[in-house]
Amino acid sequence: MGDLSQRFTPQQRKGSAVIIGAGMTGILLAIKLREAGLKEITILEKADRVGGTWRENRYPGVACDIPAHMYAYSFAPKADWSNLFARGPEIQRYFESVAETYQVNELCRFNTSAEEARFKRGKWQVRTSQGDTLNADFLFCATGVLHHPAKPDIPGLDQFEGPCWHTAEWRDDVDIRGERIGFIGTGSTAAQAIPELVDAGARLTVFQRTPQWLLPLRDIRIGERAKRFLRRHPRWVTALRDLQTQFVAQFFTKATAGHRFQHALLTAICRLNLFFSIRNPELRRKLTPDYKVGCKRIVVNTTFYRGIQKANAHLETSGIDRVTEKGVFTRDGKFHRLDALVLATGFHPTQYMRPMKLHGRDDLTLEQAWQKKIRAYRSVTLPGFPNFFLMLGPHSPIGNFSVTKMSEVQTGYIMQLVKAWQRGEFDEVEPTNEAVDRFNAYVRDGLKNTAWVGGCQSWYLDADGDPILWPYTWAQWEKEMASPERTDFDFRFSPQTVSS
Ligand code: NAP
Repeated sequence: MGDLSQRFTPQQRKGSAVIIGAGMTGILLAIKLREAGLKEITILEKADRVGGTWRENRYPGVACDIPAHMYAYSFAPKADWSNLFARGPEIQRYFESVAETYQVNELCRFNTSAEEARFKRGKWQVRTSQGDTLNADFLFCATGVLHHPAKPDIPGLDQFEGPCWHTAEWRDDVDIRGERIGFIGTGSTAAQAIPELVDAGARLTVFQRTPQWLLPLRDIRIGERAKRFLRRHPRWVTALRDLQTQFVAQFFTKATAGHRFQHALLTAICRLNLFFSIRNPELRRKLTPDYKVGCKRIVVNTTFYRGIQKANAHLETSGIDRVTEKGVFTRDGKFHRLDALVLATGFHPTQYMRPMKLHGRDDLTLEQAWQKKIRAYRSVTLPGFPNFFLMLGPHSPIGNFSVTKMSEVQTGYIMQLVKAWQRGEFDEVEPTNEAVDRFNAYVRDGLKNTAWVGGCQSWYLDADGDPILWPYTWAQWEKEMASPERTDFDFRFSPQTVSS
């Protein structure tokens, strides 16, 4: 930054920010930006309360298969989680309580979405669904990753006469007891929901396209005595969190990133789990994947195998041919009469902040910038979009790791740039195209060692077969995200900028 620092203004700038989304990442950003002294922070939230994915996903059995203590913010540990793997409603209450404690709600404009954002004369201008425009020095997209439900392209799906819904848009008004429910999908969501629906008395036909590897990490109910102990000894909460983090980092991320020992161990556990959990050889054959463990996201679950073996559950593997008004025809010519259809068919992972319209420098649109391929530098910055930050963007180490921990690392990285701006070291920052190309080549190069090229189709890879996620270990990511490499950025002063 050499010569730029000559422009150092002794009076520290405060600055303003618009954050889009009041989920886990939006709440975190608001807290950290306020700590840094930004004077105006507005969070635009399309819904009527904070919570993001935990507000939206209310399907039966919704839980987090990442241990709860490492899923909480490091600065707001929760001593009294009810379970090792917290249930969705408890996580939602946790984020609501953090938002309340840190007075984040007062920064939120609920029921307001961002329609369009333009970078003009050194400021972001954000047009909201209420018709007004906000001006800010920084724009943050905290819009999450897995929030655009993917509805399957199955012939006749729209002809089905009964209720049909995606797991992310759960219908509480449909009484499933005794009803013939068709359930499409067998991913992480399905593994949590299926046993609950079976236990609730639905007559379930599960349409499986691809079987999954299941890792049986048993949930532990945390009793009152243990909670009291943890409340009294916060250091143990931290120790528990660190232990969980080390376990996941050393085991999961290394197993998928090409470490042989961890992968062999994971494979052995998953295979034994399948062998000992499923007694019927025919059902076991249907549930045996033909790809490497870790190729798709590892499903951490101990209830699915039990649920699918119950008398009111049936696993259908012939493949769906078409849907009609009354049910589903499978490819073997069999007709499955159904009262309702549940889609656990995942999300569009590369939508990010869209459909919002984004115009960067020189009116560059996001659609133009990403026309050929999604490009970002270290997940959080985009060339051509100054003073813009994207949380959990392309190549974040999402998978079997805590997105909260990930977001804290990303926020730490971003805050270093924001604070340099506050010190007057620049007005505008964006990554150079060379840095982005180099980074993307580096990410592509990491793919060959991962389990993701293990013979499956998954949302971890894009249409060109390049990784959407971080292909190296967590430790490497954390190290590389410790601070921004200054030579990878263009820092500019804009003549029109008014110091705020
Ligand atoms: P997913 O992992 O993408 O699984 C979608 C399922 O739907 C797959 O079984 C897929 O089959 C099937 N499917 C999709 N289109 C289909 C079609 N046209 N016909 C038949 N089957 C079809 O979705 P998800 O289970 O909702 O999970 C998405 C992500 O959410 C996870 O990877 C994870 O990151 C996150 N999640 C996390 C947790 C947690 O506890 N932390 C819980 C739930 C979800 P194929 O496998 O053949 O494509």
